[in-house]
Amino acid sequence: MYVSLLPIYKKVPWKSIVLHPIIHPRFKFTCWLAAWQRFATADRLLKVGVQVPLECSFCNNAMETVEHLFSDCSVTKAFWTRSLIWLGYSRRIGDWKNELQWVNTQVKGTSGKRPLVSCVFATLVAVIWRERNKIRFEQGQLHVDKLGREISYHLHVRAQGRPSWKAALTLIDGVPSSRADIVHLNVKVVIE
Ligand SMILES: [Zn+2]
Repeated sequence: MYVSLLPIYKKVPWKSIVLHPIIHPRFKFTCWLAAWQRFATADRLLKVGVQVPLECSFCNNAMETVEHLFSDCSVTKAFWTRSLIWLGYSRRIGDWKNELQWVNTQVKGTSGKRPLVSCVFATLVAVIWRERNKIRFEQGQLHVDKLGREISYHLHVRAQGRPSWKAALTLIDGVPSSRADIVHLNVKVVIE
């Protein structure tokens, strides 16, 4: 249903992510919204005259924009970094456009852990937006270890019946843990 809602646009550098056959359709749709900057972030609401707190819900240290939420924010960047380390990647995180492009190139890979990267990324984008809403509207807190377990669980569920993904999952252990990165940050974070 979600994919059928996606309009056809000219080729974009993240096309392989939103057309990926295995990523959950709801997460692909969320990624599509983020890639086209369609989220009702504080900067967009400000432009149409809606008064909302402008600061990022995670770090309270910058205006909330798509670029900030998904690439510049110290909190979400730490979680993306941890997720990549969990998958065996050690790399410098770029801006939002760069990350979309990099993940898009990983989608085309069929060997090792590459097939998992785009699924983790799409899941991460979806849970970041969900947790942002919880913090903003329900005074929620960010449970980083819980999110790590959720992403790991989702990956294993999506791997059911897919031998290449199951083989890739044998290459990683545990869950993405952001404990080391988060504890020193001044954010509303709960580490269990
Ligand atoms: Zn932030």
